[in-house]
Amino acid sequence: MLDVLVDQLLVRRGYYDAEGSPRLSMGTIVLGGLIRSFVVILAGFAIWYYGGIELSIPLSLALLWGYAVYPAYRQFVVFSNHTQALEEELLCSSCRHYNDSGQFCQLYDEHVRPDYIPCGGDDWEPS
Ligand code: SF4
Repeated sequence: MLDVLVDQLLVRRGYYDAEGSPRLSMGTIVLGGLIRSFVVILAGFAIWYYGGIELSIPLSLALLWGYAVYPAYRQFVVFSNHTQALEEELLCSSCRHYNDSGQFCQLYDEHVRPDYIPCGGDDWEPS
């Protein structure tokens, strides 16, 4: 959970983390957008306190777009493209044990990657 928080606060790039798990899912994208929005709100209050409302509103809106909304949009585009590519390329996408929203095998409880199919194709069953 802490990894997800740090990834989202730093808007880290790279689809997979060091352990080979995907960084992005719909849940982490939405959660990251909410966390960054909360940070922007706090920053907006600080700017308001030190710089006044005339500075706070435009800077907060710019931060909200640049740090919260646009990165979430980019993450969604990357997630959609990656999910689509997995569905087109992988054997798992046609298997009944595959969970496409989390991109993992429910039978082995492991993430599926283009270079790694947990069962090696032995336990594939049509969906
Ligand atoms: S059982 Fe095998 S083919 Fe099916 S989703 Fe899991 S790893 Fe993929």
